[in-house]
Amino acid sequence: MESHAYFHSVTLDQEKCRGCINCVKRCPTEAIRVRGGKAEIITARCIDCGECIRVCPHHAKKAIFDPMSIMERFQYTIALPAPALYGQFNNLDDINLILAALLKMGFNQVYEVARAAELVSDATRKYMLRPDIVKPVISSACPAVLRLVRVRFPELIPNILPIHAPMEVAARLAKREAMARTGLSEEQIGAIFIGPCPAKVTAAKMLIGGEKSAVDGVLAIQEVYPHLIGLMKKVTSADLSQAGRMGIGWGSSGGEAAAVLQEKYLAADGVENIISVLENLEDEKFYGLDFVELNACSGGCVGGVLNVENPYIAKVKLKHVRRYCPVSCNRLPNDDLSNYLWEKPLEYEPVLELDPDFRVAMEKMKEMRRIQSHLYGLDCGSCGAPSCRALAEDVVRGIATEDACIFKLRDQVEELAKGLNLLAQHMPKASE
Ligand code: SF4
Ligand code: SF4
Repeated sequence: MESHAYFHSVTLDQEKCRGCINCVKRCPTEAIRVRGGKAEIITARCIDCGECIRVCPHHAKKAIFDPMSIMERFQYTIALPAPALYGQFNNLDDINLILAALLKMGFNQVYEVARAAELVSDATRKYMLRPDIVKPVISSACPAVLRLVRVRFPELIPNILPIHAPMEVAARLAKREAMARTGLSEEQIGAIFIGPCPAKVTAAKMLIGGEKSAVDGVLAIQEVYPHLIGLMKKVTSADLSQAGRMGIGWGSSGGEAAAVLQEKYLAADGVENIISVLENLEDEKFYGLDFVELNACSGGCVGGVLNVENPYIAKVKLKHVRRYCPVSCNRLPNDDLSNYLWEKPLEYEPVLELDPDFRVAMEKMKEMRRIQSHLYGLDCGSCGAPSCRALAEDVVRGIATEDACIFKLRDQVEELAKGLNLLAQHMPKASE
């Protein structure tokens, strides 16, 4: 069940965990169990959505990202700021101040991910014209959504847009430009994404749709923000930004769909909502849709757990700062999508299957139902699994026993007590 080959940016600090089961109940893929008073992440099921980081009251869940010192590893560094970064600052009218501050921080170059987002939007528009595609096309920009589809909604894999996300496109284009300008090799140039969420950290380490990501490191917005706040007071505005409203809009929910210019689209955000949309798509309950944008975080990328600002306030700030930008600044130079399309297809990961053999899986399913029917159906979480169904599944998988259920245990103790009572009645008194 465990997939050791997969890197996960969401991890647990066992010391801090109190076993309160808050995260168990909220994990959208039922990837967490509490055993022996501590949470455990079943890594094969985890989609790095960050929901458990958000809900843990004891800060026991955390995201792994790179330290600022990663910049020292390269001769030439390129900052790739996510559009969500622009929504973190108060009273900001000029994005150029952020970009100038990034240069002052030590980066040699800045390549806005919003710029690449406009190119990806244009590539998507061209892809949507193909007659052989499966509609509705589902956006591939949120890595948590991609992983969710891979493990839980394999029927929807043909609908996924096979185009690299703006982060990846930005890293590739920026490196190519930098190599031509400086004469340095690719290894000497570091493309560092400044990002909003753990799923993007995972995506940089485990590129979907290609062999190896061009992103060499990911800094969390919350780590970079305090440096920028100080530096932005020391810089003057220069004409650095090359992104328009369309690209910057990708930072919040609905921005990508709006930039793709499709009339019949749907944009959903928040992990529970996107699961519901995917279930409905799987059941073919939506008709006539062309494009579906899904973001695992509420509000879109501005809702990622590595941001500083409240997602809804960040959304307003992003809207404010976009007002001063042109509509769009970047179009594909020609109709050639080859630089944008995935090199590898998306593959189903059957981590939720009970057994690779269909017949055995059916038997296990029957057994699971039998066990579940003997449980109390309270979904209380006291056993450490999120629901009675999940406990029954764990029993079938051999990673738990039925007596993990405290009510079953109580029944057993009651039976034992009754037996002892009966035994006591039939036993001769010691004096007889
Ligand atoms: S929310 Fe999860 S990780 Fe946090 S203390 Fe509770 S059980 Fe542990
Ligand atoms: S990151 Fe998301 S999927 Fe992974 S354990 Fe946490 S809540 Fe579950």
